[in-house]
Amino acid sequence: MVLEKLSDSLKATLQKIANSVFVDEKLINELVKDIQRALLQSDVNVKLVFSLSSKIKERALKDEVPPGLTKREQLIKIVYEELVKFLGETEQELDLSKKPTKIMLVGLFGSGKTTQAGKLGKYLSKRGLRVALLGTDTWRPAAFEQLRQLGTQIGAQVYGNPDEKDPVRIYNQFEKELINFDVVIIDTAGRDALSEELISELNRLNEEIKPTEKLLVISADIGQAAEAQAKAFHDTVNITGVLITKLEGTAKGGGALVACAITGAPVKFIGVGEKIDDLERFNPKGFVGRILGMGDLEALLEKAKEAITEEDAQDLEKKLLKGDFTLIDLYSQMEAMKKMGPLSKVMEMIPGMGQLKLPKEMLQGQEERLKTWKYIMNSMTKAELEQPEEIGPPMIDRISKGSGTSNADVRELLKQYRQSKKMMKMFKGSNPKQMERMMKRFGGKLPGM
Ligand code: GDP
Ligand code: MG
Repeated sequence: MVLEKLSDSLKATLQKIANSVFVDEKLINELVKDIQRALLQSDVNVKLVFSLSSKIKERALKDEVPPGLTKREQLIKIVYEELVKFLGETEQELDLSKKPTKIMLVGLFGSGKTTQAGKLGKYLSKRGLRVALLGTDTWRPAAFEQLRQLGTQIGAQVYGNPDEKDPVRIYNQFEKELINFDVVIIDTAGRDALSEELISELNRLNEEIKPTEKLLVISADIGQAAEAQAKAFHDTVNITGVLITKLEGTAKGGGALVACAITGAPVKFIGVGEKIDDLERFNPKGFVGRILGMGDLEALLEKAKEAITEEDAQDLEKKLLKGDFTLIDLYSQMEAMKKMGPLSKVMEMIPGMGQLKLPKEMLQGQEERLKTWKYIMNSMTKAELEQPEEIGPPMIDRISKGSGTSNADVRELLKQYRQSKKMMKMFKGSNPKQMERMMKRFGGKLPGM
């Protein structure tokens, strides 16, 4: 797996949060330290690590917990969001609008240009595009042969001329044929370093070819040194993106990824192996989700969105105050709560109720009772839900049989409903202290709780 060590440490950290009894500053400090350690081990630049961790800490201490999330879930969300931002936030598209789209791969010796030309060719032809490869590496003796073999493997046309020493002339030689393709991937020669000679060669190619995309191919094993390299290539040949290779084989990959994100040269692809299919689009959100081992992260974020809104809560409050509170309201309230988790959250959102201290027994056994009630209500007719007062013994029999519960369960729900309704009527004009007293009188029972 890519960045396995980083992933393992971050997962362990999140597990620690999930297992914690409560979230306090001590836990947040621990979390921040763990994240720092994990990132530093992945060769992320120290300054960047500290700016990230102070951001996480600040948000963890100051941000309000969004509706529908627990404090723990919020912490996880913050870590996820800040890591995503750290990596450039949004997936950067390849510009494939031109016909042909010319993609030039540049980079130092051994970074993986030729291999990625083949991988990218396969990636694009799988998407229905007609792909040609053009070899302009006149430095490495067997460069053209390597590209030709890759082309055969992926079924793409390969152009090049091993006898020609000038890369620009190779391009000119095939220019007319290249217009028949959707995409032309141009493999170039590297050097040991970004020398004057390499810069001038790339600039000549650049002027002649005018590629839509210039992707810097960079090896992940150089870690944070990727920053200087990406910056140098960006400044001299104006790259449009980065393709980081060998990410599966190094512990330093985190450093390389982050380094590129901050140079303003977005990472567009990652190479994750030597085989032709080992290439992936780089999508910060999906990538961080995977690193954190959270397939259900989207579900968590969704939950926050779906949860009861202030408006819903106010609507409910109006109904309560008018006293026309039916079992249907109780039911929809329960539905909303199921999405939301903790009861205390719901209470906070109903105006005026946030300040209440809820009796402990109210919070206990909540889940089980809700489940039973839901089964019961599913077996009721609409009329029964609207007018629970009318439900007599024969109906109770029918409902309990239909829902696989007992008559006592049904009667308990009806009792709850009557009590809740009575209490709701009394809410009008009362202050929180009075309400607290009232709730104690009712044995800590509120609708749906
Ligand atoms: P070039 O000099 O930039 O053209 O680099 P090459 O394409 O010739 O690749 C150099 C070496 O890196 C070869 O042995 C490739 O098999 C290897 N390589 C390329 N991409 C990856 C990758 O994503 N993962 C790993 N492990 N090796 C890769
Ligand atoms: Mg090469």
